[in-house]
Amino acid sequence: MTVLGIEGGIFGAALEEFNRAATALGLERGIWNILSHPKRQITVSCPVLMDSGEIQVFTGYRVQYNVALGPAKGGIRYHPSVSLDEVTALAAWMTWKCALANIPFGGGKGGITCDPNRLSRREIEALTRRYVAEIIDAIGPDKDIPAPDVNTNEQVMAWVMDTYSMHVGHTTTGIVTGKPLELGGSRGRREATGRGVMIVTREALKHLGRDMQQATVAVQGFGNVGSISAELLAREGARIMAVTDWKGGVYNARGLDLPKLVEYVHGNPERSVAGFPGAESISAEQFWKLDVDVLVPAALENQITAANVGGIRAKVIVEGANGPTTPEADKVLRDRSVLVIPDILANGGGVTVSYFEWVQDRYGYFWSEREVNERLEVKMCEAFDATLHTALEYRVDMRTAAYMVAINRVATVTRMRGMYA
Ligand code: NAD
Repeated sequence: MTVLGIEGGIFGAALEEFNRAATALGLERGIWNILSHPKRQITVSCPVLMDSGEIQVFTGYRVQYNVALGPAKGGIRYHPSVSLDEVTALAAWMTWKCALANIPFGGGKGGITCDPNRLSRREIEALTRRYVAEIIDAIGPDKDIPAPDVNTNEQVMAWVMDTYSMHVGHTTTGIVTGKPLELGGSRGRREATGRGVMIVTREALKHLGRDMQQATVAVQGFGNVGSISAELLAREGARIMAVTDWKGGVYNARGLDLPKLVEYVHGNPERSVAGFPGAESISAEQFWKLDVDVLVPAALENQITAANVGGIRAKVIVEGANGPTTPEADKVLRDRSVLVIPDILANGGGVTVSYFEWVQDRYGYFWSEREVNERLEVKMCEAFDATLHTALEYRVDMRTAAYMVAINRVATVTRMRGMYA
């Protein structure tokens, strides 16, 4: 079937994943056509009065890929490489991630092409406020709910919420998630992605008839997702043999002492695991070849590649990061029947608790951390079970299955809603 849509680029790659699952699903041409096009792409120019007195104009984007299930949901990224193509691909992935998590959101994403390291705090605030003002008609708690992404944080979300609230004339906490707790943030949000990674790892091992207590794990990346995944997996009894970050890696055959490692990282100026006294150092090359049961890439995209996939010995790969496996490496893993828990499933804990944050804001009633975690547990297990069930039924890998579940949900409501002409 010829697929209509924007070919090439990162969005082209996103469409390839979509096409494989849509083929397995036998999706009809009309729905296929709708789901391979972004609903709305907005490009805005944001003039900012810089500290130097000059006016600089930044380009910002907001893409609402699909809103069949509910308001668009997705982060705002500040990075020099932000482009409309990238934002569109990320918005498409959010569509499938939200649908798989079974939360009533569509997929969106935003970004500004800028280098925040070269901007002062005041300039970042001014840029954020102008960007929000430029896209104000398109966003809202019932339309499109932004969140943090690369180089944006709780403070940026607080400015987004304040700017929107000033425009509509009343405080609207539900316009954005990932806010500070004091401003309507949710308990458990910071740990949510890592907690989700732990839950799906546990379920994957259970499926293979393996016990968490006997499992060995290596984690790439020791930021929000990597460190919390490692800590929670260790708390569940797994042995964390190795972790790496941008500066280096550490290994201990008996298992790393996670509380001590976290303390070490917080206590050194580079905030790196490198040089941790309770372990030997290992290179990136050695890391991928480790004889462990589970690998958790939780750093950046394109880390498991044609170059290193041959050395991988793990039986399970849990994609904490977005897009850590290249399509070539993914094919090798598929052929070798390595159980890959795909990013849209493995790291869906973050957006799930973002949904909980939005629900709490709208109720004006906030849950305990325990309630948040219990609800997250249910959602992650349901998403895992739906994916596994589809993988077994259609005899496909977990990535294709996850896309099939997600696409099927969006396709079903698209058919039900019919064509507005
Ligand atoms: P982070 O910035 O907190 O951490 C990133 C970590 O990766 C750091 O420890 C950094 O040192 C490490 N790193 C960078 N380059 C590396 C390299 N070459 N080798 C090894 N380690 C390297 O980011 P995060 O929030 O933990 O996000 C990590 C990934 O998870 C990203 O792909 C992100 O899109 C994805 N993700 C995050 C969330 C979330 O809630 N934070 C949700 C969904 C997906």
